[in-house]
Amino acid sequence: MPIYEYKSAEPESKDSSCYMCREPFELRRSLDRAQELKCPLCKNPLVKLVSKVSHTKKEGFSASEAKAAGFTLLNNLGDGVVEKE
Ligand SMILES: [Zn+2]
Repeated sequence: MPIYEYKSAEPESKDSSCYMCREPFELRRSLDRAQELKCPLCKNPLVKLVSKVSHTKKEGFSASEAKAAGFTLLNNLGDGVVEKE
């Protein structure tokens, strides 16, 4: 299930937000409920923030990405240990 990030539409207003939605928070929502823009706690309007890519983020960089980012790849880890590709 995708995770969406929401925040109160009026975080400055104490009547229109609560401690939860005053700051961005994440909610797991099925796609058909993603546009349901109400705080589950205080029922006030929310805005959907640009969804984070955390759930699709890869672990670490691939070798080609690391090289593209300017890293030099060292496969020799010292002590005679050579990392195998
Ligand atoms: Zn709220």
